[in-house]
Amino acid sequence: MKVLVINAGSSSLKYQLIDMENEHVLAKGLAERIGIEGSQVSYEADGKEEIVVKEKLEDHGDALNIIIKELLDPEVGVIDKIEEIDAVGHRTVHGGEEFTESVKIDDKVIQKMEEYSDLAPLHNPANLMGIRAMQELLPDVPEVAVFDTAFHSTMPDYAYIYSIPYEFYKDYDIRKYGFHGTSHKFVALEAAKMMGKPIDELKIITCHLGNGSSIAAIENGKSIDTSMGFSPLAGLVMGTRSGDIDPSIIFYLNSKGYSMQQLNNILNNKSGALGISGVSSDFRDIEKAANEGNERAILTLRKFCYRIRTMIGAYVAAMDGVDCIVFTGGIGENSFLDRAQICRKLSFFGVKLDRYRNREETGTRFISTDESKVKVMVIKTNEELMIARETIEHIND
Ligand code: AMP
Repeated sequence: MKVLVINAGSSSLKYQLIDMENEHVLAKGLAERIGIEGSQVSYEADGKEEIVVKEKLEDHGDALNIIIKELLDPEVGVIDKIEEIDAVGHRTVHGGEEFTESVKIDDKVIQKMEEYSDLAPLHNPANLMGIRAMQELLPDVPEVAVFDTAFHSTMPDYAYIYSIPYEFYKDYDIRKYGFHGTSHKFVALEAAKMMGKPIDELKIITCHLGNGSSIAAIENGKSIDTSMGFSPLAGLVMGTRSGDIDPSIIFYLNSKGYSMQQLNNILNNKSGALGISGVSSDFRDIEKAANEGNERAILTLRKFCYRIRTMIGAYVAAMDGVDCIVFTGGIGENSFLDRAQICRKLSFFGVKLDRYRNREETGTRFISTDESKVKVMVIKTNEELMIARETIEHIND
């Protein structure tokens, strides 16, 4: 069975064709600058060199047309006929309260996603463009929506309700939803395998640290809390996003002449690690600057790690314990310095990092000592594979 995984953004579209017999990626790539000057599609078949097709892409349909042409190409293609694609799995961002798990796409699902576009104006409309384009191209192939929010739908009400008038929850759907659910679920399942225990007997804290970052508390296989909220702006210090701040700062800056639109842009695109450091939103640049003695870069890393450490502490309290802590995402998987700084003051909980495993080894592995009461691991996330697995699971809904 072959599943095409699509992650459609407003002007980009990432894709992977995965053979689910062995979970092997047959081909993958990215369409960029859709609807903008200079658009192109990259395509990489397993074991072959990447090729780049520079062509005008008016919309997502144009991009998918090229992708399918390449998949079928006699030289670089990986399938002989289009019917070999058994299903399409879409990364979809916001499923609101309606979608508590992945779902086979039909008109009702699309309508509901349109309604939730209000809650995720940057993401849901783009996801829908990918879905519609795919439906036109392959009308007979079943499609599944895999929502970022679904895994967190198990949060108890006291975790997801905000302490503002209750009517706002009822009238405007304002509550914590959480995001990155597909990644948190994937690494939590992998962690359970590494622990050699069923997931429903474990308390796991998963730290997805990348351009966007979030932490989740996963008790007995269910997300019971997470750091992102109503939107992906909440929680930790991120590349350019502020994470949690005192909301009154917004009103204060508004009184100083910043419009709401400007503030929205500042909190989403000019804050976080970029805002504090003034160096970059990329943690490799910030670490380099910190190593060279840049005070603001040092402060940025301290703040980033401090927020994560205190959040981990909160989630240990939320679950009355923790069996393992997982690091994933670009920073979580690669930065031994940040992992060391985060774990340095968790010894009270029984966390003991193994310096060698943390610094010298790479890939998915334990980085705690054998004696460490709480196990710590690095797990390479694979959202595309999780989407493909979910697609197969829900194809017959
Ligand atoms: P992601 O959004 O998961 O792709 O993660 C992107 C982030 O990971 C960027 O801030 C990168 O700078 C960061 N990153 C990738 N490799 C490293 C590394 N070796 N050390 C520190 N940060 C890294």
